[in-house]
Amino acid sequence: MSTKRFQFGCLALASLLWSVPGWAGSPIVIGTGGASGVYLPTGRAICQLYQQATGATCRALPTGGSFYNANSVRNGDLAFGIVQSDVQYAAFEGTAQFYDNGPSPDLRTLFSLHAEAFTVVAKPADIREFDDLLGKRVNVGNPGSGHRATLNALLAVKGKTEGAFALASELKPEDMTRVMCSGKLDAFFYVVGHPSQAIEEATRRCGAHLVDVSGPDVAHLIEAAPYYSVTVIPGGTYANTPDDTTTFGVRATLMTRSDVDDGDVYRLVKAVFENLEALRRSHPSLATLTAAKMVREGVTAPLHPGARRYYEEVGLLPVEE
Ligand code: GLU
Repeated sequence: MSTKRFQFGCLALASLLWSVPGWAGSPIVIGTGGASGVYLPTGRAICQLYQQATGATCRALPTGGSFYNANSVRNGDLAFGIVQSDVQYAAFEGTAQFYDNGPSPDLRTLFSLHAEAFTVVAKPADIREFDDLLGKRVNVGNPGSGHRATLNALLAVKGKTEGAFALASELKPEDMTRVMCSGKLDAFFYVVGHPSQAIEEATRRCGAHLVDVSGPDVAHLIEAAPYYSVTVIPGGTYANTPDDTTTFGVRATLMTRSDVDDGDVYRLVKAVFENLEALRRSHPSLATLTAAKMVREGVTAPLHPGARRYYEEVGLLPVEE
């Protein structure tokens, strides 16, 4: 084909794509989490829906987790990130780990995703409740992780710090099971959707079990925060844990900033909500997602106007005056 005809062909294709409704959109990147978590496959599934709907590229970036993502969205390094609802709240309000930064009133939510439980996985059989971990060798989580942030919130209501553990290692989720199985750790923490591959391996391969996280301190934590709720991991979900495990949990959310383009946010939200069944099927932790819950639960920062526009159009939210 001559260069001229080729150029003409490209132009014609570009203008055709441009004129088809929905075929517009900017390339986007979503900050997710580690290789053994649910954020990464969730980000990939969302990206696939956005790509199919717009033709624009979308990449799910592996990261250290919620805290890293919230910080990156806050300072403009990322436009989108999957973030625990407690971390999103702290970033918006300027509390906890974000206290020194002050509030970030420009942060916005698109929707919430799956429920995540604060999960304690321990190897020695005599660790039956959270307080049995004090003085033990635990993995508190890598610095960018959300589970590290949630653990610190729990320790704070107990008047403790990470110094209460004999060892507080900072392994990434993909390494903690192996190190615990080798006998160098007594327990690890993970705020994650269930069933989790890392926890499945820890319980099946090295005889670990899940530990209850309840009692007056936890009740106080849940009562004081709008984003925590009692969560039960059903008995039998994992090996060595035949009874229900009672703990507390959050929701994962997709977060952005108010200056991110309305049209891009609208198209991303539309691609997800019009193909919710495909998202549900993409991972067992996403199987029970419902549109009504996604626009209401775990929404700890204001909705982005591009997202709200879509929810109002389809009647998921009442039109705001
Ligand atoms: N909740 C974890 C975090 O914020 C990530 C869990 C996952 O990757 O599924 O760091």
